[in-house]
Amino acid sequence: MKSNLQAVTEILKSKKSFLIGGHVSPDGDSLGCMCALGIALERMEKKVVLLSADGVPELYSFLPISNKVIKTAPVRSCFEVGIVIDCEDISRLGQVEEAFRSCETIIEIDHHPNLDRNGNLQLIWPSAAAAGEIVFELLKNMEVRIDADIATCLLTAIMTDTGSFRFSNVTPQTFRISAELLEKGASPSKIAHNVYENRSLSSTKLLGAVLSSLQTTDSGRIAWASITQEQLATIQASEAETEGVVNYIRSIRGAQVGVLFRECPDGSTRVSLRSRDGSDISQVARLFGGGGHRTAAGCTINHPLAHTQELVIDAVRKWMGS
Ligand code: 5GP
Ligand code: MN
Repeated sequence: MKSNLQAVTEILKSKKSFLIGGHVSPDGDSLGCMCALGIALERMEKKVVLLSADGVPELYSFLPISNKVIKTAPVRSCFEVGIVIDCEDISRLGQVEEAFRSCETIIEIDHHPNLDRNGNLQLIWPSAAAAGEIVFELLKNMEVRIDADIATCLLTAIMTDTGSFRFSNVTPQTFRISAELLEKGASPSKIAHNVYENRSLSSTKLLGAVLSSLQTTDSGRIAWASITQEQLATIQASEAETEGVVNYIRSIRGAQVGVLFRECPDGSTRVSLRSRDGSDISQVARLFGGGGHRTAAGCTINHPLAHTQELVIDAVRKWMGS
């Protein structure tokens, strides 16, 4: 849907007030895009509110203007345009969904493959490794000057959604865009330092606790681990600090699928699924009402941890045909 690029450009240039948001449990891609667009639109003297139901994890507080992100919608304010980023469905906005639905126009910017959308206008490019690539093209089309702050936001989006250029979603265009972002002042080493080498003591202890629960099927093709509320409390870690842990599980030799189970405060269980060989693990997430990309997907299941583990591992086995 590159054809919508011009239409979206014109709306962003002509309208005056914008509500910008991304998915719950925000990651570097959703937050990087929100901040990049926020900087650009503020510079154009538009009214801009950045809204994220789960706020900004400390890990991403280095992103320029991330301190302006709020968690609840401002009362009695209405916006001409709601921009929904990195959400395969508007409901992924979580508790702030309603605020976006009351905007006059909803624009969706995303790289999830789902083409069945509810917004008024979409920029959906499934071949983009990160929504950050789409925002980059959009800002270029708008003739926005990409400064070091915007470049930092967008390179963070791309680095985090590609596992620092290791995942199968990386294309030549990913590197072309990234090279340009470096030329504009983004520093991959500074981003990597902030995102990957700035772990709190508690999240590092948490990693140890999660990895000590590691199990695999007899064949070793499915590996999984879990974390309970009790462990989080003992270590004094938050759920957001488990981000990235699932990649350790997937990186075990012979494992084609890695799964992380997290017990939620309400007794339900969050499931993160990763596949390695490009096969579409979002099919498994979708069985349980979730979704995602071919190699990274997730869902929340309304069952306790142990039962959820059985259900999901069984479904992954069937999906693998074993
Ligand atoms: P994570 O495991 O990092 O929470 O999520 C990986 C990817 O799966 C996300 O980028 C998102 O696309 C997708 N995802 C995770 N949880 C859900 C969910 O509950 N519903 C949907 N539709 N997608 C999800
Ligand atoms: Mn993304």
